[in-house]
Amino acid sequence: MPVLDTAALLHWPIQRLVGGIVAHSQLDELKKLSTERALLVETIEMSWMTPPIGDAEAAAAKTGDLPRLSPVDLEVLANALSTGHTLYTDDYSLQNVCRSIGHPFEAVSNKRSNQQWQWELRCIGCRATSEANSNEDKECEICGSIMKIKRKRN
Ligand SMILES: [Zn+2]
Repeated sequence: MPVLDTAALLHWPIQRLVGGIVAHSQLDELKKLSTERALLVETIEMSWMTPPIGDAEAAAAKTGDLPRLSPVDLEVLANALSTGHTLYTDDYSLQNVCRSIGHPFEAVSNKRSNQQWQWELRCIGCRATSEANSNEDKECEICGSIMKIKRKRN
C-alpha cells in the first residue's frame, strides 16, 4: 500500500489511488485545489488516517527540513513512518527526510532527487555558518551582518 501525498491525489489516475494511505487533512487540502477531484477521491476505498506527528517532526528537525514542511506534509510523513510503506511525493524536503532515515520513497511525477542536503544559516558578510533551526534569517553574532538560509555545501 503506497503512502500518497496530495500531488498523487491530484494527478494520478483514480484507479491507482485505491488502497492508498492518506491523512484526513489531505482531503481538505485537495478540496481547496480541486473540488471535483476531492469528490471523486471520496468515492474510492482508501485508508484515511490521522497519525501522531512526533516522530516525523523529530526526523525533519534533524535534517533542517522542518520549517519547510506544512502540518499536512508532516501527517503524510507520519503515515509513511508509522506504516513503513513507501512514500510517494515530489516534495524535495519530504524526500530528503526519508533518505536521511532510510525510508523508501518514490516520486509522484518529477524525477526523484538523488542528492542529500542539509540547510544552514550562512553570514553574507564573514561567511560564518550555524545550524538553521527555523525558517528565519538572523543576525550574525560575529560581524552583525544578515545570515541567510542556504543549502549546506558538502
Ligand atoms: Zn558574519
